[in-house]
Amino acid sequence: MSDSVTPAAPAAPTDFIRDIVSADLASGKHQRIVTRFPPEPNGYLHIGHAKSICLNFGIAHENGGQCNLRMDDTNPAKEDLEYVDSIQEDVRWLIGGWADQSIGLKPVGASPAANPVADGVDYHLSAVLPAASEGQQLEPFFASAYFDQIYEFAERLILKGKAYVCDLTPEETERYRGAPDRPGTNSPFRDRSVEENLDLFRRMRAAEFPDGKRTLRARIDMTSPNVWLRDPILYRIRHTEHHQTGKRWCVYPMYDFAHCLSDYIEGVTHSICTLEFEVHRPLYDWILEALQLARPLPHQYEFARLNLGYTVMSKRKLLQLVNEKIVKGWNDPRMPTISGLRRRGVSPGALRDFAYHIGVTKYNGLTDVAVLEKAIRDDLNRRAARRMAVLRPLKIVLTNIAEGETIPCEAVNNPEDPTSGTRTLHLTREVWIEQDDFMETPPPKYFRLRPGGEVRLKYACIIRCDQVVKDASGQVTEIHGFADLTTRTGQPNSGKKVKGTIHWVSATQAISAEVRLYDRLFTEEEPEKDGRDFKSVLNPRSLEPVTAHLEPSLAGATASDRFQFERLGYFCLDADSRPGTPVFNRTISLKDGWAKAQS
Ligand code: ATP
Ligand code: MG
Repeated sequence: MSDSVTPAAPAAPTDFIRDIVSADLASGKHQRIVTRFPPEPNGYLHIGHAKSICLNFGIAHENGGQCNLRMDDTNPAKEDLEYVDSIQEDVRWLIGGWADQSIGLKPVGASPAANPVADGVDYHLSAVLPAASEGQQLEPFFASAYFDQIYEFAERLILKGKAYVCDLTPEETERYRGAPDRPGTNSPFRDRSVEENLDLFRRMRAAEFPDGKRTLRARIDMTSPNVWLRDPILYRIRHTEHHQTGKRWCVYPMYDFAHCLSDYIEGVTHSICTLEFEVHRPLYDWILEALQLARPLPHQYEFARLNLGYTVMSKRKLLQLVNEKIVKGWNDPRMPTISGLRRRGVSPGALRDFAYHIGVTKYNGLTDVAVLEKAIRDDLNRRAARRMAVLRPLKIVLTNIAEGETIPCEAVNNPEDPTSGTRTLHLTREVWIEQDDFMETPPPKYFRLRPGGEVRLKYACIIRCDQVVKDASGQVTEIHGFADLTTRTGQPNSGKKVKGTIHWVSATQAISAEVRLYDRLFTEEEPEKDGRDFKSVLNPRSLEPVTAHLEPSLAGATASDRFQFERLGYFCLDADSRPGTPVFNRTISLKDGWAKAQS
């Protein structure tokens, strides 16, 4: 492209939901778009939620609208404040400001020439959101805050003859409902008078009855082919304390009743949920219509949920992994939770790029985990500082370097980022290399170190292996070699070529650290295929801790730093680190080791 041509503004993502939103704005049906992300606070958010967050917040902000983070907290039994807090933290992290976000970000619609982004991805929410500063709380919405209004709506339905109090037991209710191919039967309590219904409902609220004794049901159609329309339960009795409303309520609205009304109360225009709720949509519409609410009414749209290879996603299963101590908590770096991915070193930008790339459809499918891994690698490749670390050390004694002598070598910090500069490493008499980088009797095409052979130590010089030292059992314990200092940068033989270049760290200057090598949690792409128990296909090597030697500059690593340990992968400091005993997590290897292993 010639310099004089202004590149076209990159397109915002398009999909069928965004098309609907655009059409609704164009036709004047809505002046302003309001969406919501409504998690139930019964677990930590996972990467499937991230897809929904990016969609809902994305649509709102692309259109100058608003997206409400709403706790869908109508079922106190399974909910917890811990989850409310973690959800807020995760949403804020994913869409809000983050120290590292300045890299690879630009406003939607800005020209790529003015704001180059390495992989051309042009869709970044944080650029259009008011960036949350560190520690700033997003104020979420709570469905429980509408309990009074929702209760009023229920009484209004009773007054209209569209809801009744039913005394059937849960088992009877189930039996009366029928089946998709068999009509249901009217409840014997369906024709109670408005006065009796109102009285009983008020007494339900006044705690006169035990759990399960009575319900409030919509009066719709027990013969509807859609079982969700067969007089669904709107309210149930639950003598349970609620994390927001305490002991104020002993009747709680069901999801279907609370959800459409919460949307209505908040002025939501587009209520976007996953495909399972398609069959609930007629009920969503029925409730709003039956109450004769002011227009425009919110409308529900459904999209395919994210299913990702090599993991399980539902909160119930993730809770099982936590409770059975298969992982070390919700934020274990192997978990597909947002907090796990964060701890593993994945950036919000990488997750948003992933959400952008997978798109939004109406067809359920399995997303290849390689798509996520590519987004993570592309992001880290741009901004991770290059460092050297040896995970499985073998010592080399360079006999022509004196003890205590230090030979400075300049190392490039990030070839992808010319502004990142260089740092100085020191070659010393004793260095660590990877055990893998030496073989006594190597196969053909092995270009690393062998007896009598040469290899280049990255940023330093070519070395030769002169002597292999072994212990009584024949194990190689160390290598003695020669460092050809004339092959250093700027020296006469710097241009000398050898086929292999390996990384290394000075044995006298290195710091030691625990490095946790994480891998996929399951060995099978579909852990639950054909009804299999997902716990039968756990990857026994999903965590391998090693004691590694790191170049000394890594002693100053901070939590927000991202590193590429050269030739090994991307790493970040873990929260388990203590002064003097750092712990690093492997976010991801440099290449897809699984593809190689399977080919
Ligand atoms: P889970 O089945 O994992 O427990 P959920 O649907 O019960 O998830 P909610 O807290 O009710 O979790 O979900 C909040 C929002 O996130 C909903 O709008 C839901 O549709 C969406 N969501 C949940 N899982 C996914 C997923 N895998 N892909 C896309 N969106 C999802
Ligand atoms: Mg749910």
